[in-house]
Amino acid sequence: MRARSVSGCFGGEVVRAQVGHPRSLSGVDVLRLAVTPVKAEPDGFQVQIWVNDVEMTAAGAGMGMDPYDVLIPSNRFAADDAPQTIPVARCTCGVYGCGSTDVQISKVPSGIQWEWRIEVPMDRSPIFEPAAYEREIERVAQDHSWETPVRTAGRLVLTSIDNEELPAGLRFDWVANNWRRPESFQVCLRNGSSHQIFIDVDWVNRSPEELSKEVRRLLVDTDPKEWTATWSSIQRSDSPPTMASERWTQVRF
Ligand SMILES: [Zn+2]
Repeated sequence: MRARSVSGCFGGEVVRAQVGHPRSLSGVDVLRLAVTPVKAEPDGFQVQIWVNDVEMTAAGAGMGMDPYDVLIPSNRFAADDAPQTIPVARCTCGVYGCGSTDVQISKVPSGIQWEWRIEVPMDRSPIFEPAAYEREIERVAQDHSWETPVRTAGRLVLTSIDNEELPAGLRFDWVANNWRRPESFQVCLRNGSSHQIFIDVDWVNRSPEELSKEVRRLLVDTDPKEWTATWSSIQRSDSPPTMASERWTQVRF
């Protein structure tokens, strides 16, 4: 859940070899996850995925998903009673959809099964031992050692405010530092399919914890008419969002 890089990449030109049968010596498939930096984006990170010590995101669409897409605010690797399909890899330009790998996660009698979709990195569906799988996905979700201050603030904002607590019709689109003014943290909200709304909070003299509290005070406890917000019309209209006041200004990209 962060700003997508704008690039001229249209993907699809790279054909990657599938990984054969990465088997562990014991015959049991073993999952390992890690959050690592990516160069394609400022403050960019990816969730890399090893199955039996072979990294899958590079072998699939090319690069792991942003932690905001799979770990924060909720851990989407968790196996549910019904099969769930989640994104696990995107194009190296940073855009999911330019290149994409999904997995369908299912509980099967022998464990937790991953069935690869779209750009398939491995020619079979690994099955993980449930207790070891749960331990690994919990471990990576609890490990915040990779975070930069903006990523800590982003996690605190996304995990401490439910979309249901936002003013009616609004939900989170992404959070990141303002790329024009890095001293400012920016929250982008989406108003249905009509507008994006941007709220800036200055970093000056604020820790990530203090900054996330200020974001909460503004978004949850303050009338939107009091916000100093900017907005952009997704449908290229000049009509502001219905909750806007004279304090709100239009921004064009
Ligand atoms: Zn691309």
